[in-house]
Amino acid sequence: MSEFDVSIVPCFSYDEDEVSSALKNLFDSIGGLDWVEQGMRVAIKANLVTFAKPEEAVTTHPALICALIKLLRERGASVVVGDSPGGLYNAAFLNKVYSVCGLTAVEAAGGELNRDFGQSEARFEDAKVARDFLYTSYLDNCDAIVNFCKLKTHGMMGMSAAAKNMFGVIPGTIKPEYHFRFPNPADFARMIVDIDEYFAPKMKLCIADAIVGMEGNGPTQGTPRKIGAILASTSPHKLDLAASKLIGLSTDEIPTLGAARERGLIPDSVDDLNICGDIDSLVINDYKNIAVKSSLLFDSKSKLFGKVAKRVLEAKPYVVKKECKGCKKCKEICPAQAITMVDGKPMIDRKKCIKCFCCQEFCPFGAMKVHRTLLAKILTK
Ligand code: SF4
Ligand code: SF4
Repeated sequence: MSEFDVSIVPCFSYDEDEVSSALKNLFDSIGGLDWVEQGMRVAIKANLVTFAKPEEAVTTHPALICALIKLLRERGASVVVGDSPGGLYNAAFLNKVYSVCGLTAVEAAGGELNRDFGQSEARFEDAKVARDFLYTSYLDNCDAIVNFCKLKTHGMMGMSAAAKNMFGVIPGTIKPEYHFRFPNPADFARMIVDIDEYFAPKMKLCIADAIVGMEGNGPTQGTPRKIGAILASTSPHKLDLAASKLIGLSTDEIPTLGAARERGLIPDSVDDLNICGDIDSLVINDYKNIAVKSSLLFDSKSKLFGKVAKRVLEAKPYVVKKECKGCKKCKEICPAQAITMVDGKPMIDRKKCIKCFCCQEFCPFGAMKVHRTLLAKILTK
């Protein structure tokens, strides 16, 4: 057991030698791969949310995944890499995602790409909100999971890193149902923490690709931003707490951290984490975030206050018509059927909209944005 909660190392490019040496340094301080045994099958749960080239900073970079595969194989493990993006969970769809995301390099590095598209049912008695859920069954056929996320902004959750990455175990076609089941961001975050906790016994390591992160209109249409770091931890929540510091967010601005704190999974302050590495020198002071004030979402003392806070603080999706190509993807993906096409452009029925931001996440042209109220901007900056 390491004395450190989180390890962070600088790494400024995806050059093969640089990432390989950075990963080794990262693991040295926290005993990162000590749990790997000869013959073990390890699943790398990457972030492959959609078709995006590595340089777009949407998905976990293949150079890092390949470097990790080599280290795992040196220890005698076999490795499978998988995820369930938004969309169909089948061979044709995933093959395209693997190819565009540069994951074909995985096989050359000695790993496998997941081709088991089965689903399993979880029953989790200790859950706060998600006692039953479906997940990708390739995770049943492995002995350990490495949660390998990308550090990005996120319209609904403020930040996408290790905790949110595990929402990718829900098969893509069913994801919208979960948005509908947990429309409140605080409950959605509790559901994500339930999934993290369900897989915690197998999740031996979490790593964040923060060499180049995403800022602005994340998690798929933001702008790549060089951060120059890789982080690791055995806890997705402690990793996220450290990552939030890097991009200038607080626990109160990230609902999954609020849900983790509620369960005592993280300390109140990032200063109470035992971090190996000089995190202060890697903090980006002008990172462009889309934060939500989650402390207000978790406040249950006053229903009236909750309603007022919701109206004055809650972010909403909106379309920038001149950027919209009328492809209807947002309409097709909307779990609340809140979008109709009028004169070839989407119109959102605000009464039906559950603010899941699926339309923003999956608009292929970045035309759907997150609108934050002026008060929310003032309170979160
Ligand atoms: S997905 Fe984007 S481009 Fe397509 S119709 Fe919706 S807003 Fe327009
Ligand atoms: S309009 Fe967008 S944010 Fe609203 S429910 Fe539909 S997909 Fe979710």
